[in-house]
Amino acid sequence: MFANSYKKGQEYSDVIFKMLQHAQEKAKAIGDDKVINGTIGALLEEGSLVTFKAVDDLIPKLNIKTVSNYAPQQGFPDFIDAVKFLCFRDWAPKKNVAGVAVAGGMGGIRQAIHNYTEIKDEILTADWHWGPYDGIIRDNYRFIKTFPFFKEKKFNLGGLKTAAKEIANNQKTVFLLFNSPANNPTGYSLSMDEWDGVIDYLNSLDRKIIFFLDSAYLDFADIEHKKLFPKLDRLADHVLTIIDYSLSKSFAKYGMRTAALLAVHSDEKVLKEFSDIITISNRACYGSVNSMGQLLAMELVNNSEVLPEYFDQFQTWKIKLKNRAEVFMKHIEPSIVAPYADGFFASILSDDPVSDVEKLAKENIFLVPLKKGIRVALCSIDDEKLERLAATINKVIN
Ligand code: PLP
Repeated sequence: MFANSYKKGQEYSDVIFKMLQHAQEKAKAIGDDKVINGTIGALLEEGSLVTFKAVDDLIPKLNIKTVSNYAPQQGFPDFIDAVKFLCFRDWAPKKNVAGVAVAGGMGGIRQAIHNYTEIKDEILTADWHWGPYDGIIRDNYRFIKTFPFFKEKKFNLGGLKTAAKEIANNQKTVFLLFNSPANNPTGYSLSMDEWDGVIDYLNSLDRKIIFFLDSAYLDFADIEHKKLFPKLDRLADHVLTIIDYSLSKSFAKYGMRTAALLAVHSDEKVLKEFSDIITISNRACYGSVNSMGQLLAMELVNNSEVLPEYFDQFQTWKIKLKNRAEVFMKHIEPSIVAPYADGFFASILSDDPVSDVEKLAKENIFLVPLKKGIRVALCSIDDEKLERLAATINKVIN
């Protein structure tokens, strides 16, 4: 065996793909209509990936030489402008913004943690978080620290404060990894008042802070959530905001691995340092970011005919997803579901998620066990199955 001492004994296992495999085997045996597969975190209709025609039709029109060539290490400048437009729309902060392309939202989380924390630092995030956060943090020789996301089904600012203070006692920088709106796995979106509470607290904390906003599902949340961005102007200079905006969900181009980090701060020197160090990490990690993904965003945003078509098609799917969530939330027992507002996922509260997931599998329902509950990928379940899904969960969990 050749692995270094840190990696020795580590085994790759992905619970989502394991559950997906079980679902697929069952569907083969008894038929798709009898199986509910709520494992996949992508927008599906009748088991098939949903994509947006306006985006897809642009692909053959891209310049093949530019698509084939390396992009600049920091990304095409027009791509960064396209991301600023798509991310902020009418709610751009007034502070200065710098952007660097990264390989997917995932790459953005990695680059930020790698550059803004020390080895062995703790990274703060909610107890309800996307599973790969643990892996990114561990793989970069850091530790994860969580705070309880909810108190009485609302955002738990007190929990955040306690955990942030503990970190601030031991570290030079507090790195806060936040996934809202449309949190994965709960679907929770902080309200503007709740964000105000977070901002006030960050302003009061006597430490350098990286306020990292994982915006993977931003566009699937109510557009009003973009009102968070002008609020960033209120943050004091000891806080650097980094927004991670990915095309994976917004363009339904999950495999294209294209995203950008947008840093928001009043000091140009802070932003220059951001651009330099993230670009150095791109160069040292995966090289430049996918040219096709970047060109696609540039073409789309600059095409006055296609852009409104894209927004229309996107809106249609956003409403379909909202309808799915409404059906599910109408039928699920309220006491067993985490507070949901927007997005791809809802979560069921459970004291024994692994055994509850096994019980559900016996009813031909395949979901993903988490530490504190069970993730239901509403994005991948067809409308007609949602009532049965909720009823079976109610029966099994109660
Ligand atoms: N953040 C969250 C919460 C996610 O769920 C995902 C993808 O599922 C990502 C980030 C990263 O997505 P990508 O790397 O495809 O942009």
